[in-house]
Amino acid sequence: MSDFAPSQQISADWALLPDGWHQHVSIQFDHDGVITAIAPAKDVNRVDLLIPGMINVHSHAFQRSLAGRTHRFSKPGDDFWSWRTLMYSTAAEMTPVTQHSAGVRVFNEFLRNGYTTVCEFHYTHGAIDRSNAEIPALMCDALLRASGEVGIRFLLLPVLYQQAGFGNQPSSQDQRSFVLDTPVYLGLIDHLRAEMNLSRLQSVGYAPHSLRAVGYDALRDLLDHRRETAPGSPVHIHVSEQAREINECMLATGKRPVEWLLESMEVDQSWCLIHATHISDSEMSGIIQSGATVGLCPTTEADLGDGHFPFEKYAGLSGSWAIGSDSNTSVSPVEEVRLLDYTSRLLHRRRNVFQFDASLGSGTRLYQRACEGGRLASGLPVGRIEPQSHADFVALSTSHALTEDLSADEVLNSYIYAGGKDLIDQVFVAGIPQL
Ligand SMILES: [Zn+2]
Repeated sequence: MSDFAPSQQISADWALLPDGWHQHVSIQFDHDGVITAIAPAKDVNRVDLLIPGMINVHSHAFQRSLAGRTHRFSKPGDDFWSWRTLMYSTAAEMTPVTQHSAGVRVFNEFLRNGYTTVCEFHYTHGAIDRSNAEIPALMCDALLRASGEVGIRFLLLPVLYQQAGFGNQPSSQDQRSFVLDTPVYLGLIDHLRAEMNLSRLQSVGYAPHSLRAVGYDALRDLLDHRRETAPGSPVHIHVSEQAREINECMLATGKRPVEWLLESMEVDQSWCLIHATHISDSEMSGIIQSGATVGLCPTTEADLGDGHFPFEKYAGLSGSWAIGSDSNTSVSPVEEVRLLDYTSRLLHRRRNVFQFDASLGSGTRLYQRACEGGRLASGLPVGRIEPQSHADFVALSTSHALTEDLSADEVLNSYIYAGGKDLIDQVFVAGIPQL
C-alpha cells in the first residue's frame, strides 16, 4: 500500500471528465465511494492527472496460467480449437484453492495495469466432482474472496454451459467440469445473491456461455429467471468468435449466430456480446439497434487467430464496444486499445482511423469509448468521472521521462501508445488507493 491516505476528495492538476479535460479539479465522494461533486481545486494538488479506471468486460482468471505455455507449434493449422484442448486440461484441474490463488494473482495485475472493474466470465465450476454438491458455490466464493482481498470492483458472471455443440450434442469428458443443469445454475445465482454477503464492490450477472453450449430452452429459462428476479441484470455471451461456429449455427438453425440471437431473444443494452468477430452488415445494424455492447478482446483474438472484427465500420456507426482481457495473455488495457487501433491502421493504411476531430487525441477518444461501453456492459456506474459514478480512477504521472512537457491529452496518448503501466502513479477504487 502507498502512504496515500483514504480521503473524501482527490484533487488533480488535470482530470478527464465526460466533456473533456479540466484543470485543477477536486473530486468529492461519499463513504460508499460514490462521487458527489466536482469542484475547482482549492488545496494542494494530490495527483497529476486523473482518468476513469478502465472496465475489463471479459476475463477468465484461470487462463492467466496459460500465458507463455501455449505459443509453441503443435500441428499444421494450429487454431482456437487446438488451443482450447490445452485450456481444457488446465480448467479441469481447478479447485477452490487454485481458483482463489489464480484470482488474487490476476486481479492484482489488472489493478496495477489500470483496470478498476473486472467482469469475470466464470465457468470453471468444478462440477466434475459430483461427490460435493457445494463445489460450484465454493468456486464462486473463491473468486469473490480473491476480488475482495485485492480490492477490485467485480461483476461475477457464472456461466451456464450444457452441451458440446448445436443440436444438443452431449458435452465431452473435458467439458464436464463446466456443466450445470439449469435448476442448479439458477439456484447458484439465487444463492450468490442471497447468501454470499456480496460487498459493495461486488455484483452478479448472467453468462450463457455461447449458442453452441446453451440450447434454446435453457437460454429461455435463464432469461425468465432474470426477468423475474433481477430485470436489467447484465447478460454476457460469447458469440460468433469462430467461423466454424457460424457454419454449425447455420446448419442447426438456418441463421447466423447473432442473427438468431437478435431474432429469438430480447437483446437490449444490458447485453454484452463477446467477440462478435464474424458478423454481417445486417447483424451489425441489429446489434447497434439493440443497444448491446460488443466486448472486444483484441490481444486474445489476435493470439488465437480468430479474425478481424469490422471495428472501423462499427465504431463509425457509433456502435457500443468495450474491451476485455479474455484469456489474459495480456492484462493491460493499453495493449487492448493500442492493438485495436493499430490493426485498423494496418488494414486501412491510414493513421487516426477513428478520429473525427482534432480536439482530442485518438487514444483519448478510444479510451473514453471503451469506458462508456464498459459502463453499459457491466451495468455499473463506472467509467466516468462525474457525480453519481463510482470514484474509480487511474492517476497518471506527468513527471515521467515520457510525459514531461506534454499536455494532459498528450500524456494520456503517451500512456496508450508509448507507456502503459509505467506511467501509472496510483489506482483508486471507490476512492481508496490500491497500489
Ligand atoms: Zn471468453
